[in-house]
Formats: sequence, C-alpha cells, structure tokens
Amino acid sequence: MLRRIKKTLIDLRLRQTYGADFFDYVKRRRQIHSRTPFSAGIYQDLLKSMSGDSLYSIHDYMSQEKVANLINVFARHDIDTQQCVDNMSMMLDINLELGVRTAAYFLVHDEYYHLADHREVVSEYRESGIEMGLHTQCYVDNSPLDYFRREIESFEDALGFSPKSFTIHGLGQFRIKTRMEFRRKIAKLYQQFGFQFSDAIKAHRRYQYVIQDCHGSPDQGGRYIYDDFIAMPPTLPRSSNVLILTHPCYWNNASS
Ligand SMILES: [Zn+2]
Repeated sequence: MLRRIKKTLIDLRLRQTYGADFFDYVKRRRQIHSRTPFSAGIYQDLLKSMSGDSLYSIHDYMSQEKVANLINVFARHDIDTQQCVDNMSMMLDINLELGVRTAAYFLVHDEYYHLADHREVVSEYRESGIEMGLHTQCYVDNSPLDYFRREIESFEDALGFSPKSFTIHGLGQFRIKTRMEFRRKIAKLYQQFGFQFSDAIKAHRRYQYVIQDCHGSPDQGGRYIYDDFIAMPPTLPRSSNVLILTHPCYWNNASS
C-alpha cells in the first residue's frame, strides 16, 4: 500500500513537471542493460514480475479490453529471420508456461526463411492460443495494397489458414511516407482483407510505451536492450498500454 501511494505521488509530480514530454523523460532515463544475445531468462523474469504485480494486467494480445487503473501489457514476437524461427519455441514456451497469450508475426516473401517449412509448429502453437499473423512489408512495393493481398495469399498457401491480424515490418526510414499512407488506408479497409485486428491501426490500440529488443543497428555491433527489460520505468501512468516487442533471433537459452 505504501509503495503504491509513493508511486502515485512520484507519478503526479513527474507528470506535472514534464507534461506531454513525460514519455521522453522516461526514455532519457533508461540505461543500456546488455547486448545481443540476450538471455531468455530476462524475458521470463519480466513477464513473471509483471504477472505477480497488481499494478499490471497482462492481456491476451488480441484482446481489446483495457483496465483503467492498471498498466496494460501486451507482448508480441516479430519473426524476421531463420534464427527467429529457430528460437521461436523458446520464447513461446515461456509465454505458455506463464499463461500469457502472445502473438507471432511472419514474413512471407521467403527471403530469410521458408514459411511453409514451419507449418506444423505454427499450427501447434496456434492451437495453444498463440495468435499467428502476417508481418507485412507491403510498403516496399509501389502498390502496397496489391502486394498486401499477395502476402495474404502466400500466408494462406504456406500455413493453410487466413491471418486475422498483422503487424508491419520495420525498415527504418525506408519509404516511410508509403508506409504511413498504407497505415491510413488499411485502417479503413482491413475487414475487406479478412482482418480483425492490428496494432498498426490506431483505433484498435495505441501504445504509450514499448519495451523492445531491437535498439541500435546491426552494423554497429548488434542490438541492445535497456534496463526497462529488468524493471519497468517506475513512473508509467496507470491506464497506459505497454508493448513488449521481441525478435527471438536476439535471444538464447543461457540463464539470466
Ligand atoms: Zn520485422
């Protein structure tokens, strides 16, 4: 109880001081914790500590419910490389063990891995309640919506079911305008493409804070995580939506 009162007072003071820049302030205070590969124990401990803390509510990734007085947490994995596919079970098993229903998103262009080769494992985890969706990179094409449609078909051919949700693969600043334009268009058209949900659609979900494992650039010696993976910033406002975004390729099984 005392801890809660103290936290609330700190929250109020910081937000009064920093106003709209509150999240910038939180970001500036973060310290780099470690560089790739990260120990999967870190991810496991983060989920465990949130599950055991009454300030947090960890939701089914596809759920659009939100608890007003708590910090709402969602977790997803973007599967960008063959190494991501190889390490996927390690991360998904941690989720299942803790009863956290996350989601995994797959590229379909076969450049880094051949999705159809993983049909069986995808369907097993899907049956366990993990959402399996499309990780689109349609903005690389001059007709993103046509490309998106072809990606959906490739996904269906590879896995035998239609994706119900999608995320967008990041390519830095590359074609950023086309990417934003696609987001605007798909926000109105997603149902016509058979989708129910995407966190790329602002009306579905907006994150006030993202804990991610892909800071830095691979050209500069790999990726790093901040200490927000170890302890959440103590001052996040209640009712915030927080995303934990991981790419399994950056993680290994060593103990934390
Ligand atoms: Zn990606």
